[in-house]
Amino acid sequence: MITQPFLAGVLQRTRPSDSSGGRCYLHVSPKIWKLSSAVKHLKRCTGGIGPYRWTPFIMPRTKVAQILRETLSGTEVDVRGWVRTKRESKQNFAFLEVNDGSCLANIQVVVDANVPDYAILIKQISTGASVAIIGEVKESLGKGQRVEIHARQLTVLGTSDALTYPLQKKGHSLEFLREKAHLRPRTNTFGAMARVRNSLCATIHDFFQTRGFLYVQTPIITTSDCEGAGQVFQVTTLDLAKLQQFKGPIDYSRDFFGKKAGLTVSGQLEGEIYATALGDVYTFGPTFRAENSNTTRHLAEFWMVEPEMPFYVLEENMDLAESFVRSIVKGVMDRCQADLEFFNERFEPTLLASLQNIVENEFIRLTYTEAIEILEKSGHSFEYPISWGNDMHSEHERYLTEQHFKQPVILTDYPREIKSFYMRCNEDGKTVRAMDVLVPRIGEIIGGSQREERHDALIDRMKECHLDPEDYWWYLELRQYGTVPHSGFGLGLERTVQLVTGMTNIRDCIPFPRTPKSAEF
Ligand code: ATP
Ligand code: MN
Repeated sequence: MITQPFLAGVLQRTRPSDSSGGRCYLHVSPKIWKLSSAVKHLKRCTGGIGPYRWTPFIMPRTKVAQILRETLSGTEVDVRGWVRTKRESKQNFAFLEVNDGSCLANIQVVVDANVPDYAILIKQISTGASVAIIGEVKESLGKGQRVEIHARQLTVLGTSDALTYPLQKKGHSLEFLREKAHLRPRTNTFGAMARVRNSLCATIHDFFQTRGFLYVQTPIITTSDCEGAGQVFQVTTLDLAKLQQFKGPIDYSRDFFGKKAGLTVSGQLEGEIYATALGDVYTFGPTFRAENSNTTRHLAEFWMVEPEMPFYVLEENMDLAESFVRSIVKGVMDRCQADLEFFNERFEPTLLASLQNIVENEFIRLTYTEAIEILEKSGHSFEYPISWGNDMHSEHERYLTEQHFKQPVILTDYPREIKSFYMRCNEDGKTVRAMDVLVPRIGEIIGGSQREERHDALIDRMKECHLDPEDYWWYLELRQYGTVPHSGFGLGLERTVQLVTGMTNIRDCIPFPRTPKSAEF
């Protein structure tokens, strides 16, 4: 059922040669503008040259964000959304708090007995019901809101059984809401999350687009395992039930792609192909890792942003990564102020201060070796002991950025044994030109490196990592034909959402989390 159209329209001067318009958008009913006074107004604007044409149209839905932003006092609007609360008074009127997702705030709607079918309709409404309201925006006399809508007409689009609707007024735990992923976007927390995520994505594209980076789409199904790390989800059309009956090796030539295939763990290798042809590029897409780690910062399916820049050495790579993190944090602070204030108030009281700190201060840069010394001398007792040559755990990363430096840190020059084959080897024979960006509350948010552009050095490294150079023939050809120094990095979108919202669990930073034993919805 759709609400009755509300008469609005455009009054336009129809002289065809006139490109300057002579156009007036009007709401002629019930009392915003009278058609006759609109004609007078238009005559004044156009010097009285007619003739005029009046084209009515159905009044468009107005989003709550727009009403609050522009304080459309005195205008008639058509608002649609979901009822968060209903307060009924005995004096034949009721307040509805309606949310339409366009912003954190609800709009208060005053419904009284002048609304047709008031008594029947108000009974049908409870938390979760969907409604359409036509009414006038007025300054609010009550506390808590600047404006409210005085309904002239109310339509209940869908009821919501108060006895069974899972999202009642009282707050729910994040764990509970994860099991209601189909309804959790209707809560303040997940509405805010969705808006923040959206703004982050927009800011990420803005950042690269304004710097002349090309957005490249790399494949989701791939036959090259980027890290050689074997955490790949396999993609196959072979009949697993049948295969079980055979002993011996599987014949992948009979599989869909004629060889073993999987879901991408990174778009980097393909990104390098385009970077060494088109210049600065970035990929931004879903990424999959079958690691069986049930942590608060790992997902089996996540989104990664991977810029790749020819002619960049590691220092330039770090400069880009730092300004990238700082500008997307700034971008989201500008675009989602109310949502971030909500997270600061409800989840992480140091959030806004820590984001301000990221935007305002340069990141600390030091080598892995220097960082290990700091950790060893710290006197702090870690769950996992740390010494040179070992990969850092998040507790070590967090100690450095949260407690020692109290701001983001970029670590470089990691031991070659713990890093991927494609990172450029340093002269010392022990370390590679890797860089990780570490941020408070999370640890690693970016991993990157200068790539090994020397053909023979790359082959040596592949062998060291027990990889077959044959499998990477096309990657090696990039080094054979017109090789250039180049660098790049990967930023995890969900960890960035964690950073800017202060949410502790990464499962609450993506609409539909995929983790071991969990892929509902
Ligand atoms: P970690 O050591 O934290 O597991 P990684 O070193 O395996 O991460 P990279 O391969 O360097 O991660 O990936 C680049 C970025 O992608 C990381 O810095 C992180 O932001 C993000 N990322 C990596 N793995 C995951 C995951 N399983 N879930 C969510 N984000 C991830
Ligand atoms: Mn990494």
